[in-house]
Amino acid sequence: PLFQKAVFHTTVARLSDLPVDSQGEVAFAGRSNAGKSSAINTLANHSRLAFVSKTPGRTQHLNFFLLDEGRYLVDLPGYGFAKAPGEIRAQWDGLLAPYLRFRLPLLGMVLIVDSRQLLTELDEQMLAWFAPTGKPVHILLSKVDKLTRMEQARALAGMKESLRHIGDSEFAGRCTVQLFSSLKKTGVETAEAVLAGWYGI
Ligand code: GDP
Repeated sequence: PLFQKAVFHTTVARLSDLPVDSQGEVAFAGRSNAGKSSAINTLANHSRLAFVSKTPGRTQHLNFFLLDEGRYLVDLPGYGFAKAPGEIRAQWDGLLAPYLRFRLPLLGMVLIVDSRQLLTELDEQMLAWFAPTGKPVHILLSKVDKLTRMEQARALAGMKESLRHIGDSEFAGRCTVQLFSSLKKTGVETAEAVLAGWYGI
């Protein structure tokens, strides 16, 4: 595994609390229940790591995990469950939107998408907002252990097609997509290779 020593570092509720020593960070996004925590735990070789993001008081914030010297993995709040609209808006405008668009050490986004559901409207909004940064997106089609080979192929093709309708004309070219299963450890090495490339390891 790429990250043997990953540890929880901090919960960020305000832009002013972002770590100042970051040499590079990758943000993990996805709708609630997409399998994001499981994917982070699998990639960080740590059975409980990302579940700290689900503890009360931390679910609406950015949770930073230190992978090794100066390298962070950032767990973004899961979205898609009904919350008070005002609350979501304030969090998006005040923290998530500026973080995604303007954070200099942010290297790229990993988006976790349930392979049985593909892109939701909120996933598309997330991608469209990130697109102008010119940074890469890697999509993990999660829980592929639940799909047949045929369905897996269809999910991959469907995702690639959807991406062509988001952002600028070059955006789809900055997106990569793969099959992933935390349960069966499918695609772990592929995902690690992408992250290693981004972090410059
Ligand atoms: P999160 O809300 O996006 O962080 O999602 P979780 O990682 O908590 O997973 C949501 C649900 O999907 C849980 O019940 C997990 O056990 C299940 N799940 C996550 N990854 C997989 C997977 O690779 N295969 C299967 N079959 N279920 C998974």
